[in-house]
Amino acid sequence: MAEPERLLLATRNGHKLREFTRLLAPAGIAVDPLPEPVRLPPEVGSTFAENALPKARSAAEATGRAAIADDSGIEAAALGGRPGVRSARFAGEHAGDEENLAKLMREAPAGSRLRYVCVLAYVDPDADEVRLFAGECSGRLAAQRRGNGGFGYDPAFLVDGDVRGRTMAELDDAAKDAVSHRGAAARALLAWLAAGRA
Ligand code: IMP
Repeated sequence: MAEPERLLLATRNGHKLREFTRLLAPAGIAVDPLPEPVRLPPEVGSTFAENALPKARSAAEATGRAAIADDSGIEAAALGGRPGVRSARFAGEHAGDEENLAKLMREAPAGSRLRYVCVLAYVDPDADEVRLFAGECSGRLAAQRRGNGGFGYDPAFLVDGDVRGRTMAELDDAAKDAVSHRGAAARALLAWLAAGRA
């Protein structure tokens, strides 16, 4: 089966839209934003997969088009894996990136282990196809925020294996895409599509 040339991304997060647009463009796949009238279901799942799938399903059902959705977050070992699926709401239901990051830096010690996780759901209503792809990225909590790139927890996420000891927010777009949880999940999706969805 041919690869889709366009995919709908079920998110209202502009950062995710920009990242997936970059990640899928080399394979010739354009990413379209979610049309304004389409409503996304509330995130009530206890796993990334349980949240990602309903978002992709809602978008595919509302539009009749192949759709993707990611649910992602950060797990802090010192906090038993929190905030995890609650990363966007860590400091409260309407908290922003700034408040969520401040709470993580208050509650977890500098140097402690972190992990970004992304589960990417793909739903194609024509082919009756539903798939999940996962990606991870490990690191440690920085003592101080650094960098202006990325979003969310990136200024305090020290990327494992980076010889220059940079935070995710200090990486340029291509470097973030090469190591990020979202990059890994997107590459898994592309490999599956390129293999004819086998
Ligand atoms: P959700 O997938 O919409 O539930 O939200 C994911 C949340 O996890 C974001 O609001 C961020 O707080 C965090 N997050 C996910 N991916 C990243 C990333 O690449 N950088 C920084 N924070 C992220």
